[in-house]
Amino acid sequence: MSEATQPTATAKPETNAERIKREKDGLQVWADIERYAQTGFASIAPDDQDRFKWYGLYTQRPAEEGYFMLRIKVPGGALNAEQLETIGWLSQVHARSTGDITVRQAIQLHYIRIEDVPHIIAELEKAGLTTNEACGDVVRNVVGCPLAGIDAEEVFDPSPLIEAVVDKFIHNPDYSNLPRKFKISITGCRHHCAQHEINDIGLVATRNATGAAGFDLWVGGGLGARPHLAKHLGVFVGYDETLEVITHIVEIFRDSGYRGDRKRARMKFLLADWGVPKFRAELERRLGRQLVDSFPVNDQAVNDQVDNDPHAALRDHTGVSAQRQIGLHAVGAATLRGRFSGAQMVQVAGVARRYGSGRIRLTNAQNLLVPDVAAAHVAAVQAELRAVDLQTDASAFRRGTVACTGRQFCKLANVETKERASEIITHLETALPTWESALRVSVTGCTNACAQYQVAEIGLVGVKGQVNGVEQDFFQIHLGGHLGGPAGQAGALGRKLNQRVPVAEAKDYLERLLRVYRAERQRGERFYEFVARHDAPQLEQLAARVNQIQHQKAEVAHA
Ligand code: SF4
Repeated sequence: MSEATQPTATAKPETNAERIKREKDGLQVWADIERYAQTGFASIAPDDQDRFKWYGLYTQRPAEEGYFMLRIKVPGGALNAEQLETIGWLSQVHARSTGDITVRQAIQLHYIRIEDVPHIIAELEKAGLTTNEACGDVVRNVVGCPLAGIDAEEVFDPSPLIEAVVDKFIHNPDYSNLPRKFKISITGCRHHCAQHEINDIGLVATRNATGAAGFDLWVGGGLGARPHLAKHLGVFVGYDETLEVITHIVEIFRDSGYRGDRKRARMKFLLADWGVPKFRAELERRLGRQLVDSFPVNDQAVNDQVDNDPHAALRDHTGVSAQRQIGLHAVGAATLRGRFSGAQMVQVAGVARRYGSGRIRLTNAQNLLVPDVAAAHVAAVQAELRAVDLQTDASAFRRGTVACTGRQFCKLANVETKERASEIITHLETALPTWESALRVSVTGCTNACAQYQVAEIGLVGVKGQVNGVEQDFFQIHLGGHLGGPAGQAGALGRKLNQRVPVAEAKDYLERLLRVYRAERQRGERFYEFVARHDAPQLEQLAARVNQIQHQKAEVAHA
């Protein structure tokens, strides 16, 4: 560990996580992984098991079975066919064909045995993929717009910068011991699909008064149990100075983040305590120069264009989009709540090779795109994707529902999520077949918010409860969360209702809720806007009305 990464003095005793990192850096655990691959799961020292995260490995539930989840980084969600095929084959051979697209555009496999890890990682590296620092207290997978470089409307393509950021931080001992995880979003998308508001650093492409390319800088966003939306730093960062600015921000966090209290060790707490003026002053002190105030690029014309675009509603790109390359299209398809099996991966890789250029993109809504498809082949791509249950004309429910890992594999989960999400989607597709309004739903297994429930219009969070002394699984309901729009349109965190719904009843609850919304909404009103015009008591009354419908239905059934 470099001198700069020594933990700062603190009145609080060293946390266990900090001790583990101080005693041996996470990056140094690779030799141990190779050794444990020979000696087996039972021989793994607990501290090393914690350091495995630096290579993308987490133990999965049930712990006694000795399997791991392996997270593969996909910067900006950009893959090629060979890479996806490699992951698909590895999944089928070593991971029971499991796969999930995450909300950070990565892919996770399950049922990985320690004995197979060196081979799996060697194969991934041959394909130009890595699991390095996919987890742990490091810079995580950098997210971006899945249409980077091909979107006809993007401000500019920031892909080279994403690559430069990955190169700068990966396997770099100067940044391998941060106080906690650190998330970066870089996007040129006018729809702001890369969710800058919930990243530690969010860079949104813009141009200054002279037309020079650069970024609007947002800092300190993050969800988890105590969510914060990012703060606008009010500076224009020129393209050529962006890597330097990012580096200094990561170093501010590394040197000043709250290592003494893991629950407050994220950047968002530092920023909340310092405030924007102090943070900006410290950044400028380290840079040795002042940053230029930001230029309001998001004019009304852009705003109108975004609001009128169906993609903008979800800030997603599922469906067919004309590319900037004349005659080519990106065909976006929805998974069923993020599940992407090894067999599906191999199929998608084949489709991308046959009909496109071999490129594939993953979205943060747990969906995917096949770009570079000629107009004459769009229908064939749609048919082949549909044949493996990847829908290009997906319902709003399928397209907009994300789910975290949940109790099937996650040790922290209170409830099962993937199957519940599947039930909800298929139920709503049947019950509300003509539903037309975009909707973001999150099914999350606990308050850690890996499925970002606070920024979903309907957020379901798994909690434990008791009925007649018997423990049962419930979803706590959060309504009205959403991310902001252009021209500074602010996002909002979902509001927690007093209500909890038994998990098995969630699908019916959502149906009733959406029927009430459809009956009472104003013209053109999105679900989150409908929620926003209800104050807290009205929202509880709304929830009570939704339940009343349930009771009326039950009475009719009994009559
Ligand atoms: Fe696990 Fe909770 Fe994260 Fe879901 S939100 S994956 S249950 S830690």
